[in-house]
Order: sequence, then structure tokens, then C-alpha cells
Amino acid sequence: MKIRIFKYSKLARFLKVGGIVIYPFIFFADPDPGRELINHEMIHINQIKQLGVVKFYSLYFKEYLHNRVKGMSHNQAYLAISFEKEAYENQDKLS
Ligand SMILES: [Zn+2]
Repeated sequence: MKIRIFKYSKLARFLKVGGIVIYPFIFFADPDPGRELINHEMIHINQIKQLGVVKFYSLYFKEYLHNRVKGMSHNQAYLAISFEKEAYENQDKLS
């Protein structure tokens, strides 16, 4: 599947996120997103390619909800998702 990137996207700005992957599209809020942010979103693309779209998004939201039920804030719950941990840990390893 060909990945398409949209910069300065209304969707990302509306959601107040730096970037978001809605496979096979990546939406960035900034007109010139930094390399680490682009790398972060590409890591999610690779996670989706490995797991499949349905499995990735269902596990992603399942983990988020579990974290919220455990009492974490929105931000804590988001950062504790295994896919986010992997992306944040590796986003600075620029190829
Ligand atoms: Zn992420």
C-alpha cells in the first residue's frame, strides 16, 4: 500500500496532535514536521504492516482503555501504549 503524507493537515490540527496515522495516510499538523516526528509516524506504519490494520488499531485502543481503567490520565495512558513506547524509544534513531 502506498503511504501518503499530508502536512499542515486540518485533521491533525483539529485533533491537536503533531501527527497521526490513519493507514495508509499520515497527517501532520505542522507544515514542516521534524525528522523525529516523521520517523515516529513511520514506526507506526511499520507496526501496522507487521500486525495488520485491524489488529494494530484494536490492540492500540484496547491498551489505551486498559490504561485509563487503571486510573491513568489521557496523556499517561497514551504514552504507556506499547506501540507508542516503541515509537518514542526509536524515533531518534534516524536512518
Ligand atoms: Zn505515536
